[in-house]
Amino acid sequence: MTNVDQLVSQATAEFAAIADAAALEQAKARYLGKSGSLTELLKGLGKLAPEERKQAGAAINGAKERIEAALGARREAIRRGALEAQLKAEALDITLPGRGLPTGGLHPVTRTLERIEALFRSIGFDVADGPEIEDDFHNFTALNTPENHPARSMHDTFYLENAPGLLLRTHTSPIQVRYMETHKPPIRIIAPGRVYRVDSDATHSPMFHQVEGLWIDENVSFADLKGVFTDFLRNFFEKPDLRTRFRPSFFPFTEPSAEIDMSCVFCDGNGCRVCSHTGWLEIAGSGMVHPNVLKAVGIDSEKYIGFAFGMGPDRLTMLRYGVNDLRLFFDGDLRFLAQFK
Ligand SMILES: [Zn+2]
Repeated sequence: MTNVDQLVSQATAEFAAIADAAALEQAKARYLGKSGSLTELLKGLGKLAPEERKQAGAAINGAKERIEAALGARREAIRRGALEAQLKAEALDITLPGRGLPTGGLHPVTRTLERIEALFRSIGFDVADGPEIEDDFHNFTALNTPENHPARSMHDTFYLENAPGLLLRTHTSPIQVRYMETHKPPIRIIAPGRVYRVDSDATHSPMFHQVEGLWIDENVSFADLKGVFTDFLRNFFEKPDLRTRFRPSFFPFTEPSAEIDMSCVFCDGNGCRVCSHTGWLEIAGSGMVHPNVLKAVGIDSEKYIGFAFGMGPDRLTMLRYGVNDLRLFFDGDLRFLAQFK
């Protein structure tokens, strides 16, 4: 049966030369199909003598198995080749650097507020809070600023329409008033928060932050104010040699009152552009709490005395990080904010 062996090697060679699955199926039909070469041989079996027929049939069936095996192997090879080509085409280039997961960070002013709170907590101050929509009494009247007092025009206040007597607090002092209404001395708190005034330029924003401090007890002096505040600034700016000076000033809710300057953190007091060559930077307002403020909240002003101070954490943040425009903090530009992550 050389005929059969030839057919097998011919089919095997033909399959091997085919790289396409559809073409392979067509080639299969030429051997195993209804009128394929091998099928024709099977049809011819009937004409043979019984002895020959048995032998020839076995040979043809063996050939059929070998052709089917060759076909299966080629099918698998073509399938694997196609898969490899696809994998190659859709390959991920894992040598590309990853895009990374963006992580958020705290706003620089929030960082400053947390730093201030931590420093004051470490010396026994509580952190108090209060509403941003205030009434006239807590924002002005209780702070020795009665109606028609000239200080009320110093802040151009946002008043609420259709809600007489309500306004956006112009300072965090009302937090202190509310705290004193509900707590008995000794009182040691700081009051951080957002405040609002009609003001907008490179160093003023209609919304900004304040932190005020208050210490009321039987024997609190101006020396305590100097000690507490100077120590705070030295720790905040990490400058143990930082100096402060107190200049007489006026606030309706303190008497006496003082502006606090600190030696310039950029030139250590030698004079530079930031401090207008004076060596000093204005940093806070302060004073001894006015007896009228204590009276307004029902604290015995004969028995108790205390100091208060107020500062701008936005300005502290600008000085600490060397930022020269306040508005950058509130524009929401991630290119700026991401630098503080
Ligand atoms: Zn300077």
